[in-house]
Amino acid sequence: MTVSPELAERYAAVTAGIAEACARAGRSSDEVTLVVVTKFHPAALVRDLVELGVRHVGENRHQDAAPKAAELAGLPLTWHFVGQLQSNKAKAVARYADVVHSVDRASLVDALAAADRPVDVFLEVNLTDDAGRGGAAPGQIEGLAEAVLATERLRLRGVMAVAPLGEDARAAFARLRATGDRLRAIAPEATDMSAGMSGDYAQAIAEGATHLRIGTAITGKRPAPQ
Ligand SMILES: *Cc1c(COP(=O)(O)O)cnc(C)c1O
Repeated sequence: MTVSPELAERYAAVTAGIAEACARAGRSSDEVTLVVVTKFHPAALVRDLVELGVRHVGENRHQDAAPKAAELAGLPLTWHFVGQLQSNKAKAVARYADVVHSVDRASLVDALAAADRPVDVFLEVNLTDDAGRGGAAPGQIEGLAEAVLATERLRLRGVMAVAPLGEDARAAFARLRATGDRLRAIAPEATDMSAGMSGDYAQAIAEGATHLRIGTAITGKRPAPQ
């Protein structure tokens, strides 16, 4: 089976864009992990990505991710969960997800800590003024970090955010970076920053992102959710 030339081209264009943004920021591309967000795409696309060299994939809905992860269990992949997560699904998500990027409240920390596998976590920060958006307010991050540090099985990796619409992404990521700096006052090992999507990954790299979550720029248009 061969990978479609369009997919291979988009993947090559994004990896070149990442290398260029890293060079401009004076960073090594080894510092940056590319998580390809494959939500709504079939397992076959993930297989093609693995063929191209992708080793990290991201999903945002448990009901789509679980069967895909099961079908692809033999592949050398790290699964990242990047979407809003209900506490009652945390245990099931932890069966396949190695990393959860969207931890934004203490009840979710508790639910993940009770799962059967250890999980790496990012604390999601809400960079907007709208409390209804995903993520914890920046002022809640230290409290959440303490909750994670008090668990035995959760490893705190750092902070995560989605840039708000209608604002310069770089300015938003600078606020995320500052929140990460505050986090490290109590958790020095939490050095990672999950930021940057198809439209703003260069700005995220400029502000120090270590984990990019890139979907459509690589996968092409997403199919409608089922
Ligand atoms: C879908 C999604 C992405 C990828 O978005 P693209 O614009 O397709 O790159 C990144 N992060 C999260 C949390 C997402 O839900």
